[in-house]
This record gives sequence, structure tokens and C-alpha cells, in this order.
Amino acid sequence: MARTETPRRIRGTQDIFGDDQRRFGHVLATFERVRALYCFQRIDIPVFESTAVFARSLGETTDVVSKEMYSFEDRGGDSLTLRPEFTAGIARAYLTEGWQQFAPLKLTTSGPVFRYERPQKGRFRQFHQIDAEVIGAPEPAADVELLVLADQLLRELGISDGVTLQLNTLGDAETRDAWRAALVAHFEAHRGELSEDSLTRLEKNPMRILDSKDLRDRPIADSAPDIDAYLTLEARAFFDSVTAGLDAAGVAWERNARLVRGLDYYRHTAFEFVTDRLGAQGTVLAGGRYDGLIGSLGGPETAGVGWAAGVERLAMLLEEPQLAGIDAVVVPMGADAEARATGIVADLRRAGVAVEMAYKGKMKARMAKADALGARFAIILGDDELAKGAAAVKALDTGTQTEVAFADLAAALR
Ligand code: ATP
Ligand code: MG
Repeated sequence: MARTETPRRIRGTQDIFGDDQRRFGHVLATFERVRALYCFQRIDIPVFESTAVFARSLGETTDVVSKEMYSFEDRGGDSLTLRPEFTAGIARAYLTEGWQQFAPLKLTTSGPVFRYERPQKGRFRQFHQIDAEVIGAPEPAADVELLVLADQLLRELGISDGVTLQLNTLGDAETRDAWRAALVAHFEAHRGELSEDSLTRLEKNPMRILDSKDLRDRPIADSAPDIDAYLTLEARAFFDSVTAGLDAAGVAWERNARLVRGLDYYRHTAFEFVTDRLGAQGTVLAGGRYDGLIGSLGGPETAGVGWAAGVERLAMLLEEPQLAGIDAVVVPMGADAEARATGIVADLRRAGVAVEMAYKGKMKARMAKADALGARFAIILGDDELAKGAAAVKALDTGTQTEVAFADLAAALR
């Protein structure tokens, strides 16, 4: 009979442990701290939605909807999709929960998202995003606040050196229509040189050709007309306020006139924070304004702007994370001391002291455990200490040892 095989991890998923977990947790904790400084509220939304939520808000022709979604029929016959991103679900929640009454709303969330992509460094099938959105604010100040938040997050993570903010405008509806016509004329003139994918894009969404990574498309994309000549006065003024706000806040940016976001609903501001330290997966944080999204979901026309960042990509850029360290390790020697140590450890933990018990091996192995855990103190308990009602407390950095009564341990360690 064949032996049962141990189960495998699904391709493109991760079991995040040890050093990786410390990096991962540090990104999330820093995001949580910084979003509170900017007065953004945390929300949590479902991991799956009706497939239509993503298909309608992202657009059927996007890579995410056409190739990358994890969609399935549930037992009731409904078509559901594991979220490939947060914005569509947040917009859906805004409508179904009647959050219009709280607008403008500044929201953040984080968690796993799912895309069927070819796994490689910095690219997974289940990955994690942090996400920030402002809904119901048509003013450029909202774009600026989100960008300054992103910039502060990268600074506090210590990774802002070598990460550049690239900024573009996609204009308002009038601008987009005029620019689109100019792009179509340009691409039509070079039809014969475009890749097959770009010929499809030319029919469905010509702007995406600008984004193409295919080398055949690059010269044609690079010589395409910029949006600047087509900006309406309003669209130009909007972009100018965003850049003036960034300058006032001391956030460096670069114009990238080729930057278009892959999704249909983007208007005005589009941006990416990019680095050359992650190879082909160089975009760490990306977003823009999506004033058309909530309308496309059947809601009232509502302004929105936001960004998402890959937690794994941010974590990969971090310096070697410091071991958090703990306050103390209790080292009991002998059966009586071990019995007593159980109570002491429980009391210390209830008093808010982070302690571990070392109960395996000889004295030397137990002290080594205290070092490995980065403990500040070792609390040594033997028969002598039990008789005295006081433990030997050794400071592991200096090696000095003092006697501390059991009752005073918590106060001495805090
Ligand atoms: P890319 O061009 O790398 O595919 P994208 O434009 O699809 O990125 P967005 O939809 O803007 O990415 O998602 C926001 C962020 O999520 C990205 O900037 C990146 O940091 C992260 N991200 C996107 N796809 C993946 C993935 N498959 N694995 C890990 N992180 C990802
Ligand atoms: Mg992608």
C-alpha cells in the first residue's frame, strides 16, 4: 500500500515564520502606528465577494479580472471571488453599509489578497497588502494626505532611501477622452509593430499600451503623446495643487508621464513608489484617484483616492530586524524549584513582565536559552533560593547578580 504523502504547501503561498515573521509584523505594526497619526480608521472587510464586485469595478479587460482572479462557485451556486485587492470591496461596503453619512471617510485595512500569477521573488498567489483610502473627498488635499502618509510609512520603516515616488495625472473625463483619441491615432499609425496583446489593448483600452513590458511595444509607447497637451484647465489645476502640497510637506516626487494604472476607474492622480532593489518586482506601493468607481458599482458618483502596498515587498527591503527580546528567563534547578517556578512565572506574566521558563537540560543549556531569547535577566531558582524566599537575578549584559525576594521580582524587572 502506498504511504500517505505529507501535504504540500500550495504554490505561491507562504508559511511565514521566524525572521520573515518579524519583518512582516514590523511592517504591519508600523502601518498601524502611522495610520493613527493621520487619523485614519481601521476597517475589516470579507476575504471574498460576489465576482461581480471585482469584475465591475476593476473592468473585464484588466489583467487582474481576465487572468488572475480566484473565482469559484459556492455550494449555493453563487459565483464568488477571493479578493485580489481591497478597493472594490471597500467601495462595495461603503454602499451596502450606508457609510455615505460619514463621508469623507479615511480608512485603512490590511490582510491577504489572492492573484493567480506566476510565483517568483516578490510575487505570490496569496500575498498581503496594507491599504489606505479616502472616500467622498474630491479635493486634491486628500491625494496629498495619502501620499504624505505613504512617504512617512516608508521613512519610519527605514526604506525611503532608494525608493522614488513617481507621479502622473490621468486628467478628468474630458482630458482622458482627448488624450485617448490622440493615443489611438498614434498607435494605429504603428499597428504593424505592436505586440498581439497591445493590438487587443488598442481595441479595449489603448492607454494600457503605455504600460506594456513587451520590448516590441516600448519604442511606440515611449514616443506616444504625453497627456500634458490635453489637460483641461481644471485637470491642470488639480495636478498643480497635488504637487504643491507634496512640496509643502517636503515629499520628493518625480513626474513619470508614462505611468498609467491598470484599472479603468482612475482619474487625475496616479502614482507608484518604486525601487530598483527588488528586480522586476520594483513597485512597492501604488495607487491613485478613482472617482468613477463607486458610480460604476451602481452607487451615486463619489470621489475616492487610495493606495495599496505589498507587505512582503516592504518586508524584503527592511534592514535585518532586531530580535524583540524579553524581560527574563526563569531557570529552576530541581523538582521543588520547578514546581515553585510555575507560580512565579504566572505571577510575573500577570504583572506584565515577558518571561520564558527554561526547564530543559543542564544549567548551562538553560542559561544558553536565556541568551538566545535575548532576555535581560536570568532568574535562578535552586534549593537555597527556595529556602531564602529570594531568587538570584543575573543581569545578562553585565553579569552582575543580585538577590531579590520573590514578592519583589515583578517590580525589580519592570
Ligand atoms: P505588478 O506590476 O508588480 O504586478 P500591480 O500593478 O499588479 O503590481 P497593484 O494591483 O497596484 O500591483 O497592487 C499594489 C501592490 O501590491 C504592488 O505595488 C505590490 O507591492 C503588491 N503586489 C501586487 N501583486 C503582488 C503579488 N503577486 N505578490 C506580492 N505582492 C504583490
Ligand atoms: Mg500585477
